[in-house]
Amino acid sequence: MLNLVLFGPPGAGKGTQALFLAQAFNLIHLSTGDLLRQEIAEKTELGLKAAEIVSSGELVPDSIVISMIESKLKMPKTTVGFIFDGFPRTVPQAQALDDLLKRHQAEVSAMLCLEVEKEELIDRLLKRGLTSGRCDDADPATIENRINVYNQKTAPLVSYYESQGKYHPIKGIGEIDEITARLKKAVEKL
Ligand code: ADP
Repeated sequence: MLNLVLFGPPGAGKGTQALFLAQAFNLIHLSTGDLLRQEIAEKTELGLKAAEIVSSGELVPDSIVISMIESKLKMPKTTVGFIFDGFPRTVPQAQALDDLLKRHQAEVSAMLCLEVEKEELIDRLLKRGLTSGRCDDADPATIENRINVYNQKTAPLVSYYESQGKYHPIKGIGEIDEITARLKKAVEKL
């Protein structure tokens, strides 16, 4: 199986690039951000719990996102693999993903980390906020908080995957199709 973790700070382009990679390699795209926004829109019990956390830019508890992912990891024989977008975001989430995949005799193939500096991230998120309707994109203080949360809680996953030889930094600046080409090249070399 080919199981990719698409990694990077908020605004790095994970969602955009995940769609291209899913198509190119025939992978199932799983975005915990999309799944949470769907729950919030449908006002499910989970969505009601998550709404305030997501709008503040904090992380939803590990137990919630792990069980969301668990319920989506169905693997009929035809499954080529998955692309995880916005997950894992903490070390316990990464360990849970390893355990879940192991149950299916599978593992993370690579972690592709989109690298973009902070000023560019803030710029992109504020621009996206004008059209996305996402309240976490509209407010500069929330954006700042999301980047801080990333640096504190999520960035440590770089060494988690690096120590397993799975970390692939990718320059996330430039034209969208240039970045897609860099990502594809890294995957083809695996
Ligand atoms: P971005 O990468 O631009 O922040 P996402 O759609 O990945 O966008 O995430 C939006 C929000 O959803 C996060 O700020 C967080 O509140 C919540 N979220 C998404 N994925 C996770 C996760 N794996 N663990 C905890 N919270 C998450």
